[in-house]
Amino acid sequence: MREINHFIDGASFTGASGRFGDVFNPNTGQVQARVQLAAENELDQAVQAAQAAFEDWSNVNPQRRARVMFEFKRLVEANMNELAELLSSEHGKVIADSKGDIQRGLEVIEFACGIPHALKGEYTYGAGPGIDVYSMRQPLGVVAGITPFNFPAMIPMWMFGVAIAVGNTFILKPSERDPSVPVRLAELMLEAGAPKGVLNVVHGDKTAVDAILTHPLVRAVSFVGSSDIAHYVFRMGAEHGKRVQAMGGAKNHGIVLPDADMDQVIKDLTGAAYGSAGERCMALPVVVPVGQRTADELRERLVSEIPSLKVGVSTDAEAHYGPVVNAAHKARVEGWIQKGVDEGAELVVDGRGFKLQGHEDGYFIGPSLFDHVTPEMESYREEIFGPVLQIVRAASFEEALALPSKHQYGNGVAIFTQNGRAARDFAARVNVGMVGINVPIPVPVAYHTFGGWKRSAFGDINQHGMEGVRFWTKTKTVTARWPDSELEHADSSFVIPTMR
Ligand code: NAD
Repeated sequence: MREINHFIDGASFTGASGRFGDVFNPNTGQVQARVQLAAENELDQAVQAAQAAFEDWSNVNPQRRARVMFEFKRLVEANMNELAELLSSEHGKVIADSKGDIQRGLEVIEFACGIPHALKGEYTYGAGPGIDVYSMRQPLGVVAGITPFNFPAMIPMWMFGVAIAVGNTFILKPSERDPSVPVRLAELMLEAGAPKGVLNVVHGDKTAVDAILTHPLVRAVSFVGSSDIAHYVFRMGAEHGKRVQAMGGAKNHGIVLPDADMDQVIKDLTGAAYGSAGERCMALPVVVPVGQRTADELRERLVSEIPSLKVGVSTDAEAHYGPVVNAAHKARVEGWIQKGVDEGAELVVDGRGFKLQGHEDGYFIGPSLFDHVTPEMESYREEIFGPVLQIVRAASFEEALALPSKHQYGNGVAIFTQNGRAARDFAARVNVGMVGINVPIPVPVAYHTFGGWKRSAFGDINQHGMEGVRFWTKTKTVTARWPDSELEHADSSFVIPTMR
């Protein structure tokens, strides 16, 4: 059985905890490898390696650190096919989607290539008589990222791309369900010129996470995953004096106004609801048609579109989406479908019991569609994270606006309309962090920032872009005076200095 090791201090590291996690091939349902699960002392060894690397790395000038990022980008591009195949084999998403996962991460690396510019501080000449004020952004030290299974390339790169470029050293604790790509990324960073100890990968579960959250040398933690764990990480990290950003789950709504271009809406919705088997925090699992005519047409069009979707193995270039990540998740999604039925929603298309010939043990679920879902239903309030689309009918624009605004999650939302005024009003008033206008998956580009609201994110600073630079640095502000000691000896002052 292949074993997946940690990557510490520039080398593969065999842990001694004696604990392992199974890594499945979701296409076949077979265990394909086992990953080490770190004990506290293994996490500590990674932190010590990162701490030892910090001083030199933080003193490398920003341009040279950026050059490592340029070279890393080149290496990832050169290894794109291998990385995408590896990613698909553990996650189950189709190869083209795995390439998208890697590419969206690389776009943050491209942003990090411009770090010398982003790190420039502020300067005021003559803030007072002979006084200049300037600020600089300094790295924090050893920092950590804890990432979910659903974007094993993009989300690690969101975090370490910016964190390392600004001069920190990094511990990545990837999802134990698809741990191989993060290790390859760390190997490529080493090859690109990041000194050993700058990027370390420690595999594990709650034990490793707790060790990160309580380690005195870890200065900041970025987390992405489900909301209860995000909240736990946020509280524990803060209690131990760390800076924490913790992104959680989602339940994104797509609002369809009566004037929307329905051909486009159907294409956008099916891709955003079922792509990657619905395992995206920016998926669109809820659609809210406004008015009965819109709802009836939307339902009819979806019912005729869904049979054309092809569910297949992740290497099938024709497949629209592949299996979900593991057996437990498959059972969970199917449990939510049953729950929806029990709660009285109408199951229009049932994807349970889907079998792919020759892959009967794979974790496949067919596309499912519910109509007449209501806000009181638990299957509406909670995240399903599978290929399940729920229609929630709204009688008016205001009713549609209220649904995502009142939902416990507030990651993304989309509105489909040809009315610019309605879209503008919606974008301004909706209580959600990221808004798409005729864009089903409004994940902001890398030089903007990513972050939801409400239970979709704990902490107040977003991922990547300039907010990423802020999260991974601390500001130092210097007030400087160079008096001519011959001429001006100021008297002692016992009053707070002001600029009166
Ligand atoms: P998860 O919460 O199960 O795991 C995330 C990380 O937490 C993993 O590294 C895991 O090892 C660790 N972990 C698991 N159990 C833990 C525990 N009890 N204590 C401490 N750490 C623990 O999430 P997942 O299933 O890997 O990912 C899917 C979830 O992530 C969905 O809810 C999805 O919406 C969310 N997500 C959110 C965003 C976002 O930016 N808001 C992006 C991607 C995914």
